[in-house]
Amino acid sequence: YSAAAAAAAEELENPMKPPVDVKLTKLLIDGEFVDAASGKTFPTIDPRSEHVIAEVAEGDVEDINRAVRAARKAFDHGPWPKMPAHKRGEILLRYADLLDQHADELAALETMDSGKPYEQARYGEMPLVSRQFRYYAGWADKIYGTTGPTDGSHAMYTLHEPIGVVGQIIPWNFPIVMYCWKVAPALAAGNCIVLKTAEQTPLSAILAGKLALEAGIPPGVLNIVSGYGPTAGAAIVEHMDVDKVAFTGSTEVGKLIMASAARSNLKPVTLELGGKSPMIICEDADVDAAVELAHFALFFNQGQCCCAGSRTFVHERIYDEFVEKSKARALKRVVGDPFRSGVEQGPQVDKEQFHKVLSYIESGRDQGANLLTGGGRLGSKGYYIKPTIFTDVKEGMKIFDEEIFGPVQSIAKFKTLDEVVQRANNTVYGLAAGIFSNNLNTVNTLSRALRAGTIWVNCFDVFDATIPFGGFKQSGIGREKGKYALDNYTQVKAVVTPIHNAAWL
Ligand code: NAD
Repeated sequence: YSAAAAAAAEELENPMKPPVDVKLTKLLIDGEFVDAASGKTFPTIDPRSEHVIAEVAEGDVEDINRAVRAARKAFDHGPWPKMPAHKRGEILLRYADLLDQHADELAALETMDSGKPYEQARYGEMPLVSRQFRYYAGWADKIYGTTGPTDGSHAMYTLHEPIGVVGQIIPWNFPIVMYCWKVAPALAAGNCIVLKTAEQTPLSAILAGKLALEAGIPPGVLNIVSGYGPTAGAAIVEHMDVDKVAFTGSTEVGKLIMASAARSNLKPVTLELGGKSPMIICEDADVDAAVELAHFALFFNQGQCCCAGSRTFVHERIYDEFVEKSKARALKRVVGDPFRSGVEQGPQVDKEQFHKVLSYIESGRDQGANLLTGGGRLGSKGYYIKPTIFTDVKEGMKIFDEEIFGPVQSIAKFKTLDEVVQRANNTVYGLAAGIFSNNLNTVNTLSRALRAGTIWVNCFDVFDATIPFGGFKQSGIGREKGKYALDNYTQVKAVVTPIHNAAWL
């Protein structure tokens, strides 16, 4: 271990006091912070100490009903969908400013609730959040249809109208980033929202909801409900008065959501689901740089990324050197209290994920992969896991085929491009892929052959608001971010009128 890594590990037993107090724990419905109709609460846990941070209102069916009624009223009778679009844009710009002004507090809540390094949340993620709102603020008055010629007797134009009441369900790995990916395009297009946060990480979105009201987003336009998936989440998806559902989370739950949306009122769904993304290190790679990028691609956010580069394919010519240097890099990784400066990796989000990752590590050992480094818990308190690398990993091993969602890198050797394309695509997922090469022909071949929604060439996890994100195959349906996300939140209406003696059409 490096000195920094060893020092951080020693301090694990004494978590720092978070630089923020939790003030907001209620549901945001119709512009008010309210208790759950049942009066129930649930604990949210600090993954560093395993202690309760706060009791949060536990939304259930009745609260979703209230929130949908509020959103319906705001959509049908309120100003939001009907106001001049540039006014919506101005409110979203004001919202972005407020999110920036509260970035320290939002990032601290995020770290306390999820365990991610504060510096990552504050300086890596919060800028994405306000940028997302500014980007879609700019779109608000640039959403419009087209005109088109018909057979000669009619004139036609299209309107791009908001869908109505939108249900959104987000996960715990990037709570505030997932919030802004969902909320910003939906609001820009004039929709009203019922959003459910993940039960592991409810805190940051509640503060973000308060700031939305301060920015001038009218009551009922944005309703935020904390609660569990099978209760509050399922109630959103089943609701007959929710016009569309957007979900990010596991493929398993994504399938349930699609079936339930079809059974109820056939609401359209967009799904952003799991992945098992290949990171392909080609023969010509600068090994030091490739090691660093592949390390980042997997270990970023404790390995809890849907797009994590979780199958590292390395060309046989550089394989041994790559493996040796990857081990050195993992040993240098600073795992510790995420509030401490310089910490690269905090605890896993909760006990369930912690045990799930540890059981994958066990299965890697059992199925004959070579454990190069790590391989277990770090410390005796909190959900910390040692940066772990397996080599000689193969298809058929669970750690190579299934989504681990933890700090476990699996390295495999390949010989030819044809072989690596076939193996990289040999998965039910298709969220992202990484390529490391300076050979233009190799990059062109791979970027077109790989079946994935994002191809990162000589980079990874670049998430600017302009870049569409979403999956091929069982990684999802639809794209978030960029212009494409507006399609999720608008519907096209064709307006047709007869035209007599037209000079032109
Ligand atoms: P999950 O899919 O169960 O939860 C994601 C969200 O869906 C949460 O808000 C949850 O409350 C909600 N939900 C759960 N069941 C629901 C239901 N029946 N109806 C409606 N909403 C429901 O994910 P998880 O259990 O937190 O994590 C399990 C695995 O999912 C992880 O190990 C990881 O592989 C994957 N995951 C992927 C992403 C991603 O970004 N694609 C994010 C988190 C987790």
